[in-house]
Amino acid sequence: MFRKILIANRGEIALRVIRAAREMGVETVAVHSTADADAMHVRMADEAICIGPAPGTDSYLSMSAILSACEITGAEAIHPGYGFLSENAAFVQAVEDHGIKFIGPSAEHIRMMGDKITAKDTMIKLGVPCVPGSDGGVPDLDAALKVGDAAGYPVIVKATAGGGGRGMKLAKSRDEMEIAFRSARSEAKSAFGNDEVYIEKYLGRPRHIEVQIFGDGRGRAVHLGERDCSLQRRHQKVFEEAPGPSIDAETRARIGETCAKACADLGYEGAGTIEFLYEDGEFFFIEMNTRLQVEHPVTEAIMGVDLVREQIRVAAGEPMSFRQEDLQVQGHAIEVRINAEKLPNFAPCPGTITQYHAPGGLGVRMDSALYDGYRIPPYYDSLIAKLIVHGRDRPEALARLNRALGELIVDGIDTTVPLFHELLKADAVQTGDYTIHWLEGWLDQNMG
Ligand code: ADP
Repeated sequence: MFRKILIANRGEIALRVIRAAREMGVETVAVHSTADADAMHVRMADEAICIGPAPGTDSYLSMSAILSACEITGAEAIHPGYGFLSENAAFVQAVEDHGIKFIGPSAEHIRMMGDKITAKDTMIKLGVPCVPGSDGGVPDLDAALKVGDAAGYPVIVKATAGGGGRGMKLAKSRDEMEIAFRSARSEAKSAFGNDEVYIEKYLGRPRHIEVQIFGDGRGRAVHLGERDCSLQRRHQKVFEEAPGPSIDAETRARIGETCAKACADLGYEGAGTIEFLYEDGEFFFIEMNTRLQVEHPVTEAIMGVDLVREQIRVAAGEPMSFRQEDLQVQGHAIEVRINAEKLPNFAPCPGTITQYHAPGGLGVRMDSALYDGYRIPPYYDSLIAKLIVHGRDRPEALARLNRALGELIVDGIDTTVPLFHELLKADAVQTGDYTIHWLEGWLDQNMG
């Protein structure tokens, strides 16, 4: 096992990794920008080192600063969390070239899945069903129109290098293709520095179902069931649950085994998520995330495992601590993402926390780096807390979420908590009957 690891991240996910490491007797090094000198992850780690000024590009995204921090502190491995450098193949290569272990998959697997066209090609070869659409990148408008005519409208134009819901444009008919194609390309160029796009059939009423997989890098892999993340705003998740209300045990086993086999065949190491749209009983692959997801705690709750501990174990060359038959769904878990944002427009709302009280009690987990008097810096993501509840079944989890939200106090800034109070009153949320498009419509009617 490692003696010491460095966490190349901040906020709640840095704390999450520190907690797992501490339980394993592994020392931790926090890195931070000048804006985060008072942050909770800095206080909680065994050691902390400043890696640069406030902007992420000069600190949490600075490969040289992070590698130097490793050398200075003698950390043997780096946990990247999510976001920042977690899916940057060049970083992983640099880490390994310095003789430091990256806690996650190989640079090759990250590169393969980071390019969505290569990812789809790979999945098709591995027997995973994909959304129908263009055969690879679409070079110009003529080619785009041909794909649209063949697939039938509506279609969605997506960035090959995409992420975070950016570079994605809908064309409802042939007339809308030119605008969709050009705007997806220019958004992709400015967001990712790569204007390549591809086209998919647009699904009208799918759910977003993703399968958690875990591999040991030596040809063994398991699945840990699915999460339903259909409640989305601007293609970004706000509420996630496991198991999926629309997925039965047989369907779970079928899609889970397909995903686990694909990861075993790849020799994939660590945690990964294979994302699908699910419509009329059929799964369509959209992308694979080669890292720990924000919503991983709902899977931990229903499977009774610590995914971060497992990541650290396999990175250190130890065997996985569970087999497929050990992993049985227990109860129901829900996570809500609490952001420092002002409703109804979700405008970022950094500021000072004047009072903070976290909910507790049976089946309640609060992953957050907040504390009384904490000043939220304006430079980073607006996620400030994840509230996760676990119950015997979905109605119990919903009631527990309602109860826990009522206990939570975050004063001094605006947050998205009122959104969840309202959402819990909606019939669709109570019954679990919604598609990926439902929340946008509900927001227009209720928060517009
Ligand atoms: P990103 O990497 O930017 O998150 P994804 O490919 O994972 O992009 O898609 C994000 C979300 O966009 C999906 O969860 C879904 O809501 C929507 N989406 C993506 N592809 C399609 C499609 N073919 N039809 C309908 N909605 C889609």
